[in-house]
Amino acid sequence: MSDQQTVTATSPAEQAIADQLRASFEGEVIDRGHPGYDEARTVWNGLIDRRPAVIARCSGTADVVEAVEVARKHRPVVSIRGGGHQVAGSGVCDDGLVIDLSAMKGIHVDPVARTARAQPGVTWGELDRETQLHGLFTPGGEISATGIAGLTLGGGLGFLMRAYGLSCDNLRSVEIVTADGTVHTASREREPDLFWAVRGGGRGVGVVTSFEFDLQPLGPEVTGALVLYPYENAEAVVRAWRDVTLTAPETVTPEILLWSVPADPAIPEELQRAKCVLVGGVYAGPPGAEAAAAVAPLRELAEPLMDLSGTMPYVTLQSANTWRFPDGERYFMKSHFMDELTDEAIRTLVEWDARRPTPESLTVIRTLGGAVGRVGSDESAFAHRSARYNVSIDAGWRDPAMDDEAIGWARSAWDAMKPFSSGGTYVNFAGLGEDASELQGAVYGPHEERLERIRAAYDPEGLFARAAHRP
Ligand SMILES: Cc1cc2nc3c(=O)[nH]c(=O)nc-3n(C[C@H](O)[C@H](O)[C@H](O)COP(=O)(O)OP(=O)(O)OC[C@H]3O[C@@H](n4cnc5c(N)ncnc54)[C@H](O)[C@@H]3O)c2cc1C
Repeated sequence: MSDQQTVTATSPAEQAIADQLRASFEGEVIDRGHPGYDEARTVWNGLIDRRPAVIARCSGTADVVEAVEVARKHRPVVSIRGGGHQVAGSGVCDDGLVIDLSAMKGIHVDPVARTARAQPGVTWGELDRETQLHGLFTPGGEISATGIAGLTLGGGLGFLMRAYGLSCDNLRSVEIVTADGTVHTASREREPDLFWAVRGGGRGVGVVTSFEFDLQPLGPEVTGALVLYPYENAEAVVRAWRDVTLTAPETVTPEILLWSVPADPAIPEELQRAKCVLVGGVYAGPPGAEAAAAVAPLRELAEPLMDLSGTMPYVTLQSANTWRFPDGERYFMKSHFMDELTDEAIRTLVEWDARRPTPESLTVIRTLGGAVGRVGSDESAFAHRSARYNVSIDAGWRDPAMDDEAIGWARSAWDAMKPFSSGGTYVNFAGLGEDASELQGAVYGPHEERLERIRAAYDPEGLFARAAHRP
């Protein structure tokens, strides 16, 4: 027997889990010997190479209940997979049971009530496509391939958050299977503790099987600023951008990226792959003079390399950058929430960005405030309501030989920015192998204790402990 076969052999305990699941499951039970095993254990981040014992690919809520029952009996390590985009790859685990929700793709939009129900395997691109049929949307993430599940449960920062709040702020209710295998509906009125926890602290309280979102009118066309500025003036451009954020209306959520120009045939060849400063902001309302005026200051920060601002369909905007984060490449992210962006913080950020290891790597600053900050700090588990900015340092690369260099860059840049941080970090941008205790305090801050109490009440035996304590 080869080493490889030894590693992948199914143990009797694992076999018992697979057998029990197969006896009652509607979905697919994928164990180490299954021909689809390698595809099923693969997540977005190519750095992740985990080998679960069994992957329970659920077809619906009843399958999730079965998977939880089996987990209670056999007590494997459990991980929960939604869209599979968490950079830390926490949707899959070694030698345990993956409750895989990626095949649960149901979406139902009620245009009269202005609500949408979506199952946890849905991506933002899929949800936007359905809601936009009715000229409606709920605020999501900025990359269409990302799962609605992990993103909403961790908070949900997006292009329109200053006008409409975080993704989790737009939740009306969730259906959730808790560790005892019961199905709950949690909302502000029903099981408010559970509902409080899933909005920002949703890892490890149970398995969410359906999200009900409030919808808002928007689109199909939206107006946005999208301007490329030269990298030589990066520090001055970021400072000017920071000044604009201080007076920007809530209808605009300014964002700035220190990145590289894409190798896109529509862009002059001499600019392709060159470092640049990319400034963006979408107007939360109909296109027109008011929209153009609201985003105009973002177009006047310096002499631009290119100004691609204009009007485009919301679904196009939401998927415009998805191709720049292809499945299977290697990624690592870390972030800080910040209360202010001082000149010194900007200088430090630009200095570290200049050492970026690859054109795929980037540094992003998002502006919070507005509707995000108006939600009371105790109203949900999301703990960073008063932060003005989130700075994320995102390494991307292809060659495994660069792993240490790329991860090392992101960690060092994050360390250098620590003196300027509010002390908070975003669970959804937390990279591989980060120390769990370091993350806990920084992610949930003053809400840590209440969240642990709720987790303990619904999961006294710690069935979901791993999901709770890893990003
Ligand atoms: C290219 C890219 C762009 C991104 N852009 C943004 C952005 O604009 N804004 C933003 O806020 N974030 C963004 N993120 C981060 C994103 O929010 C997280 O990666 C998020 O975890 C993705 O959700 P998922 O369902 O795809 O992840 P998964 O890896 O499937 O899940 C992550 C974790 O969430 C928990 N989980 C997932 N589903 C469930 C469920 N149904 N019930 C209970 N627990 C569950 C599990 O603990 C799981 O390990 C981005 C990530 C990537 C890779």
